[in-house]
Order: sequence, then structure tokens, then C-alpha cells
Amino acid sequence: MRELGELNGGFAGEVVRPGDPGYDAARAVWNGTIDRRPALIVRPTSAGDVAAAVRFARDRELVVAVRGGGHSIPGFSTCDGGVVIDLSRLRGARVDPEAQTARVGGGALLGELDDAAQQHGLVCPVGVVSHTGVGGLTLGGGMGRLQRRFGLTIDSLLAVDLVTADGRHVRASEDEHPELFWGLRGAGANFGIVTAFEFRLHPLDGTVTHGVVTHPVERAVDLAARHRELVETGPDAAWASFGVALEGGRPTAYVSVLHSGPPADAERDLAPLRGLDGALTDTIETKQYLQTQHLADEATAWGHRFSMRSAFLRSLPDGVVHAWIERLDGVPEGAEGGYSVWSCGGAIAAVADEATAFTGREGRYWASAEIQWDEPELDDACRAWGRAALDEAKPYEAVGRYVNDVAEVEDGLARSIYGDAKYERLVALKRAWDPENVFRLNQNIQP
Ligand SMILES: Cc1cc2nc3c(=O)[nH]c(=O)nc-3n(C[C@H](O)[C@H](O)[C@H](O)COP(=O)(O)OP(=O)(O)OC[C@H]3O[C@@H](n4cnc5c(N)ncnc54)[C@H](O)[C@@H]3O)c2cc1C
Repeated sequence: MRELGELNGGFAGEVVRPGDPGYDAARAVWNGTIDRRPALIVRPTSAGDVAAAVRFARDRELVVAVRGGGHSIPGFSTCDGGVVIDLSRLRGARVDPEAQTARVGGGALLGELDDAAQQHGLVCPVGVVSHTGVGGLTLGGGMGRLQRRFGLTIDSLLAVDLVTADGRHVRASEDEHPELFWGLRGAGANFGIVTAFEFRLHPLDGTVTHGVVTHPVERAVDLAARHRELVETGPDAAWASFGVALEGGRPTAYVSVLHSGPPADAERDLAPLRGLDGALTDTIETKQYLQTQHLADEATAWGHRFSMRSAFLRSLPDGVVHAWIERLDGVPEGAEGGYSVWSCGGAIAAVADEATAFTGREGRYWASAEIQWDEPELDDACRAWGRAALDEAKPYEAVGRYVNDVAEVEDGLARSIYGDAKYERLVALKRAWDPENVFRLNQNIQP
């Protein structure tokens, strides 16, 4: 890319333009509903390249999209006509086993961090699909099966290296630009491009107890009660997700668990969940943590069409479970839709909600309605199902929403994600670090 090089004293990365052989592959993102045509896709190989790309786009007043793993549900990591700064050449995770830390490239995928950490009997709590980007996941918060024990991904974040809207290199941590570091942990896509993350790691023997118990949907309320009992009285080593879904057209209820304590403790703690008569399947057994981190990869492969709605809930009453079972009937034919509720609390709730921009730590449950389909004709019906799917749970919502799940793009949404007080604090931060809103393809904090 000669223009980039001439203008900025050397851009060593790769550039893909419309008409190039790799253009269609390079512009594809995870969610198949998103089909945009950037003017330029650049793949920096260093923080210097990233800064050059930001300056280049600014000088030409081109819209900037930043791409980590490409999994943004509303398609924030691509654009029409602008520049995509694709971080896929800034990969890799390097672990310091003595210090129990990891340094991770801004474009790395979760699987790289998991593999590198587990080689030393360590772990960083991340999400449940290995092809998700560390970048977007972390900057929004980062939820996963170890969250009750080790907290959100941001709770293990020590520092980031950032390229700012004016092309400067900045490091943010509790000691360096602490206010910026506060905002990066939950609203991070607004303030710059992270070229490297540093995480604290936690010791985790690779063996965990994991699996799923399924029942006919008639037992959903009983199963939900046992899930509630585990969430509200069980140890932080136990994470469990309750859900209802259609299996081969038949409504079923399930609980999926991961217990990271000793197998004997897991057997004791999970016994009530497994003790409900008449299970259709029970796959709970000991396995490698790394194995569990790949189990959902294929079902969530690239290219399907997808929408969702989520909320943090203070409680999960039976009436809500009944409403969800009824709403399964409304999933359009040809689509797969369902509900899941993850246990939160534990280490997430041990951090004060004000401590980071992420908002929702008071929710005991994270509830999510997800729908996946392949036929474009179903777009409207599937999106409509997703939009209304959590209506009955509204009275039980906690303050805040998980920014990484918000599929809608509307003015004013960010205020409801962070709540009024935090939103004002984020606006002040945005004015300080990105007053011209260079980084606006996100749930935007308007300067
Ligand atoms: C299949 C699937 C599974 C998921 N599972 C989980 C889960 O278990 N837990 C969970 O918490 N979330 C989960 N999510 C949600 C996920 O956290 C978000 O979709 C997240 O935004 C993805 O990050 P990404 O880097 O892959 O996406 P991208 O689309 O590349 O980026 C998302 C946003 O982050 C910005 N961004 C990305 N990298 C950087 C960077 N280095 N510097 C600055 N900005 C950056 C982008 O500009 C964009 O606004 C899942 C999503 C999918 C599609």
C-alpha cells in the first residue's frame, strides 16, 4: 500500500482492496446478516502500523472499523466505504509462568490464550467459543464458565497498550491513565485500538467436571429450581446454565455445568441437579478444560445469520420460565432459537459495580435468547422473535446490559447499557481521548 507508506513513514502490513482476489474473504465477518464493502482492509503487523492506519484514515476522513475476532453481532468490525483495521496479524499469547501473566496480541483469538495458559497449568477466564476475539470480548467485559470463580475477563486485565485516535501510543493500567483503564473495562471499543493486552493468570489444573443434563420441557420448572439452588447456595467453583430449547423440533429443558473444583466436590455439589428423575441425557463427566472450550465451536461456526437479546436478572421466577416455553412455539420454522441463563455472582459480584465501566455485576443471572438461521427471508421474523423474547423478564432486570450482546444499533442505547451516572463519566472520557469520535463503530459513547 504505497499511499500508506508514503504518508506515514512505512506501513509494513497488508492491504486488501475491492477487486483483489482475497477481498470477499477479507470483508466477511462472523454474523452472516452483515454484508458490507469497505474501501480498504488493512492488516497491520505492529503498533506502528496501527498508528499509521489510524492517521491515514483520519487524514482522509474515512470511517474506521476495528476488527479483532470479527464476532461483533451487529457487525461493528466492518463498514461500507471506510477503512477496516484488521488486527488478525497481531496474534499470539506469551505466558510468563513465574509471574503468572500473559501478554496477548490485540487480534488474538480466545483459543490462543487458553492453549498458552494451560501449557503452564494456568488460565484466564474467557468466553466459551474458541474462535471469538480476545479484543472485543475483553473490552466489553468477558463472561464464561469460570466467571464465578475468577470473575469477568476484565477482572484479570492488568494493562493494555493502546493506539489513540490521534495515533499516539499509550499504556493504561491501574497506575497509568487509571480513568482510561476504568473505561476500557466495559466500554473499551470507544477509546482506541488495543495492540496488546496483559492478563493476570490463575492456577487451574486442566481437569474439570463438565456436561449437560436434559429433560422433557414438562420438567423445566423443577430443573430451574435445582439450578436456582446451585446458583444461590453453591460454591464459586460451580458454574451452571439453565435453558429451554427445541431439540429436533421437541422442546427440552437442560442444565449445562462446569465445576472446576476437585471431582469429589463436583460430584457432591452437582448431585441435586442430576437427581431429577427421567433425564433424557446426562453427559456430566471429568474432562480437560481445553476440550470444553472447543465444544461449542462448530455449532457457532462463521457465516450463519444470528440475533440475540440478553439481560442481567436479579431473580428467575417460574412465571418467566413458563413464558419462555410458550415463546419457543414462536421460533420461525427453519430457525433455531432458545433461552439460556448463566449463573453470575461469585467473583463477579465481589468487584464493586463502580470499579469498571462494565455494568451489571448485581445481576445474579445473565439471561439470553439467541436465534440462528440461514435464509435471508427469515431475517425480519427472527429479529422480531429476538427483540420480544425477554419481555416477560423485564420486571426482574438488574441495572445495566452486557454491551457485547446488544444486537440493536440505535441512538441513546449506550446510556441504557451503562446507566446514567457511568454514561456521563464515559462521555467525559470520550471527550478527552476521542473528541472527534474516530472510534464510533461500537455501542457509541457520543463525545
Ligand atoms: C459465537 C460467539 C460466541 C460468544 N461467546 C461469548 C462468551 O462466551 N462470552 C462473552 O463474554 N461474549 C461472547 N460473545 C460475544 C463477544 O464477546 C462479542 O461478540 C465480541 O465483541 C467479539 O469480539 P471480537 O474481537 O471477536 O469481535 P470484533 O467484531 O472484531 O470486535 C467487536 C468490537 O470490539 C472492537 N475491537 C475488537 N478488538 C479490538 C481491539 N484490539 N482494540 C479496540 N477495539 C477492538 C471492534 O471495533 C468492535 O467494536 C460471543 C460472540 C459470538 C459471536
